Amino acid sequence: MAFSSPDQLLPLQGAPTGTPWASVPAADWLDWRWQLQHRLSSADELATWLPVSPELRDFLDKGQGFEVGITPYFASLARPGDLSDPIARQVLPDPRENRHAAFERLDPLGEDPHRKAPGLIHKYPDRVLLLVTDRCAAYCRYCTRARWVATGSELLGQDELDQAIAYIERTPAITDVLISGGDPLLLTTARLRRLLDRLAAIDHLRFIRLGSRVPIFLPMRIDAELAATLRPRRIPIFVNVHINHFSEITALSRQALGLLADAGVPLGGQAVLLRGVNDNAATLRETFYAMLSARVRPYYLFHCDPVRGTAHLRTSVSQGLALMRALIGHTSGMAIPKYCIDLEGAGKVPLWPQYVQAMQGESMVVNSYLGETWEYVNELVDSDDR
Ligand code: SF4
Repeated sequence: MAFSSPDQLLPLQGAPTGTPWASVPAADWLDWRWQLQHRLSSADELATWLPVSPELRDFLDKGQGFEVGITPYFASLARPGDLSDPIARQVLPDPRENRHAAFERLDPLGEDPHRKAPGLIHKYPDRVLLLVTDRCAAYCRYCTRARWVATGSELLGQDELDQAIAYIERTPAITDVLISGGDPLLLTTARLRRLLDRLAAIDHLRFIRLGSRVPIFLPMRIDAELAATLRPRRIPIFVNVHINHFSEITALSRQALGLLADAGVPLGGQAVLLRGVNDNAATLRETFYAMLSARVRPYYLFHCDPVRGTAHLRTSVSQGLALMRALIGHTSGMAIPKYCIDLEGAGKVPLWPQYVQAMQGESMVVNSYLGETWEYVNELVDSDDR
């Protein structure tokens, strides 16, 4: 499929037939405010979409779990009635969220001790994480920041934002700000523009990043005005989009991503490895190719963090490595992201299957992607010989 650009906007089209929203007028369906107002969150609302078991109803009625909210648009991408659908598994709550393994954490990345100002996490020497809102268009069941996302406690007001920006201004070691949340593309366009303008004016910043799932959960939110707001200023603004499965890349999300790409916004793709969603090589390969065809360069495949109550969605790390081995060399290098685990308090660790079998002096033995054994020269060059 060719990619869409602002002068090739899609015709007005409503929800797919066979979904509960088929009779919604197209103008409502394509209105992002309508989508947010009609999110599925109670047991009764979810039951209009998929079967809700008595256990799930009980779990939801007790209201103790992580926020539930699914845009009808995203829900409409799931196969009707199929609880095992990869779209549904990401956002439909599960009573197993009440089971907590000993090694699972509320703050699995150990971010809270590094909070330097409201919403500002400074964990690595040269970059900071700025959490500007606790709201998302929909809520992923495995969210790493479920401890405060959608709790209403971390929405940055002007004073808090001023404190966070003042910290960045007086810390010249910071070269890169990652704006996240929650989802920063849910801020009003005017607020986002002011924030980006202020950050771009800080001399020691080299670039800005935004993490978002809006192009996937709520692609109708991306319009020409928002795309223009993300245009490069003195420094570029990169947007990393969280995409887990190729079926999330629809005509509408392609159009949203095309608007951003045409505005000069470099796009990266971040996926989370999830059991029953994308834990097989064929799905991952297709997902990374779908990203590329939507002008998104696969950047990270994150191992699912040990967030409390998410064991039913995680795979093993050995499975993750086996999947990377099944992709590397068998598919374009453009479609291979970095596979990472994230240590509590110590950052990301990139994991790569082992290809070096032995290395001794000038000789080394490696495996090819096909598993054959090859010798290669580990050339030892004196600086005088260069
Ligand atoms: S979009 Fe991101 S921040 Fe929001 S619930 Fe999903 S993983 Fe969490």
